[in-house]
Amino acid sequence: MKHVIVTGGAGFIGSHLCEALLEKGYAVTAIDNLCTGSKKNIEKLEQSSSSFNWIEADVSLPLPIDQIRFLDSYGLDGIFHFACPASPVDFEKIPFEILKVDSYGTFHTVELALNYNAKYLLASTSEIYGDPLVHPQKETYFGNVNINGPRACYDETKRFAEALVWSAIQGQGRWNGKSYQPLDGRIVRIFNTYGPRMRLDDGRVVPDFCRLALQGKPLRIYGDGRQTRSFCYVSDLVRGILKLYDSNYRNPVNLGNDQERSILDFAKTVIGLTQSKSEIQNLKPRADDPQKRCPDISRAKETLGWHPEISLEEGLKSSIDYFKSVL
Ligand code: NAD
Ligand code: UDP
Repeated sequence: MKHVIVTGGAGFIGSHLCEALLEKGYAVTAIDNLCTGSKKNIEKLEQSSSSFNWIEADVSLPLPIDQIRFLDSYGLDGIFHFACPASPVDFEKIPFEILKVDSYGTFHTVELALNYNAKYLLASTSEIYGDPLVHPQKETYFGNVNINGPRACYDETKRFAEALVWSAIQGQGRWNGKSYQPLDGRIVRIFNTYGPRMRLDDGRVVPDFCRLALQGKPLRIYGDGRQTRSFCYVSDLVRGILKLYDSNYRNPVNLGNDQERSILDFAKTVIGLTQSKSEIQNLKPRADDPQKRCPDISRAKETLGWHPEISLEEGLKSSIDYFKSVL
């Protein structure tokens, strides 16, 4: 059996990834400190699969190697480093946790991958493009990031994490003073992804608008709502991640949906789908809120043969069903 580790495995994307990996026949260890994740997300996996093991631990600290029981039996095929709070509301609440998990956490997990000659896949983000001046965003764009802004703890450490993984993929220098085999690494730049298991109070626009619409409360738009995002359903994303893991492609790859929507249009879509009587309120704009975001996914199409399949309406319906069940 092949064994993989998913950090952040009890989070939104991480738990879907664990599920898909188990379905593909991997033994999976999820490591999570539950800072923004939940045991509920992996309860079913724990109960139904003997190939699943979860460990409560902070990957910013030295990894609990002796607790990873599948290492002895199966070794290590790869690590998916997905641990990191990802909602803009967390950026001001827990910046140092974010800075640590993307720096120390990336060092620790890359080291483990190097020790086992295992594959490595880093969850990076569209945020590394900042408030982009180029549209749509191609992987070759260097970005427009404010290193002293409210998003800096996230944007900059994801850029740092990419730089770390990229240097190890190139086999540059020495690792802890020793020569090493270049890392068999991959970098995915994830654009706004949504779906079941997002926390209702997560603060991101999809759970926020769905919750408020279901409760008949006003939806609050920061600014005039002309800013855009492109929303990808989680099953499409996970399918792309697995394709990247199976490929030999080493450059960063954007994964996301390229159907761009204004936030105002998105609010109206949510109100329509929930048949809500909620009104729309405009609040003052958020500082450094990216005004346009849409991935150029030609690289993923060409190298992985991947493209998103789930429409926003379809994905929102199943997300809304989930949010209703939680409410
Ligand atoms: P999430 O908050 O649901 O998941 C993150 C998980 O990491 C949580 O379970 C949390 O408890 C865990 N975690 C955080 N710090 C940890 C630590 N130090 N040690 C162990 N576990 C830790 O968020 P998500 O949306 O599922 O995001 C998962 C990954 O995908 C993150 O790396 C994020 O940056 C990236 N990403 C997500 C999106 C998106 O739209 N959802 C977009 C771009 C990038
Ligand atoms: N947004 C909003 N109201 C909310 C939450 C978010 O208007 O209650 C806007 C936010 O200003 C941004 C977009 O929706 O322009 C997406 O925000 P989110 O927090 O989901 O993630 P981001 O893409 O900014 O990281």
